[in-house]
Amino acid sequence: MGKSSKDKRDSYYRLAKEQGYRARSAYKLLQLDAQFNLFKDVTRVVDLCAAPGSWSQVLSRSLVAKGKDREPNVAQSETNEVQEVQSKPKVKIVALDLQPMTPLPGVITLQADITHPSTLPLVLKHLESDSANVDLVVSDGAPDVTGLHDLDEYIQAQLLLAALNLATCVLRPSGNFVAKIFRGRDVAELYCKLRIFFERVTVAKPRSSRGSSIEAFVVCENYTPPEGFQPSLENPIWTGPTRQEDIAGQIAEVSLDDAPSGRWVAPFVACGDLSEWDSDATYQLPDTDENGVKRVSIDPIQPPTAPPYKTAIEMRRKLGNGGKIN
Ligand code: SAM
Repeated sequence: MGKSSKDKRDSYYRLAKEQGYRARSAYKLLQLDAQFNLFKDVTRVVDLCAAPGSWSQVLSRSLVAKGKDREPNVAQSETNEVQEVQSKPKVKIVALDLQPMTPLPGVITLQADITHPSTLPLVLKHLESDSANVDLVVSDGAPDVTGLHDLDEYIQAQLLLAALNLATCVLRPSGNFVAKIFRGRDVAELYCKLRIFFERVTVAKPRSSRGSSIEAFVVCENYTPPEGFQPSLENPIWTGPTRQEDIAGQIAEVSLDDAPSGRWVAPFVACGDLSEWDSDATYQLPDTDENGVKRVSIDPIQPPTAPPYKTAIEMRRKLGNGGKIN
């Protein structure tokens, strides 16, 4: 969340700054948790596509600060972040992204590509485990949108499948998986693919996610992979002719089991209380807060570590031709 936003009167943008979150997306995960109780009994989490880190902040505040085993070893800093003091924690949060992330207390941050085979060993190493024992995998991954809707939807779907593939390698049986999805034309096939691996798949739209956006989140509960399924990042699901045939058969089964019409439709849930802020509306801020104190503009909580636009700005400065790059 940088200094300039599409609209500074966006209530979640402002709330995020007030509550010390790096991005307004924090409220999406909070509202999903309020609806699905995602953090119940969770001690091991992997946060995929995590930069700048507001979901990791939510995880850290919910699991590390509240975790009984961590209470004697954490302290709240001025920014309300949890600071690890000493001792080996039971709660493990591993966050990774293509972009570098400014460290967060109680969170292991890695710079890695979720689609690359070398990422799985790295994650397992930091989980200090050689087996799948993660309770929850979350993924808010999004490609840089091109504005070409079909292409954006396709790339988003591929990122979701990459996240699912990684999740199948680390999740314990009956673990949960939450991921961003674009509700485009062919989304029903993605729901079917997810249903092969999870007992329940729900599409959720948190109130903090703009109604005008096709973004939603799939909440996949109770990981139960098909018998004989071997997770692997080197041989990802839905690659190779044999696997494709197998999976096509399983999609057909899901469709027939759940809907005699042959089309399985994931249930949809709008989450977040109606009394919460509407993310599509903007609000005129009063000059003073509820205590009569004059409102001041808050600086970004965490300016981007290495934003992709940095090079462009430097090039513009060097060119010094009125900011035009030919
Ligand atoms: N959940 C984050 C938060 O709350 O701060 C926001 C995530 S942001 C919407 C989407 C992220 O997906 C970007 O930081 C981007 O770098 C990351 N991403 C996209 N493709 C990726 C990939 N192949 N591997 C890892 N991260 C990826």
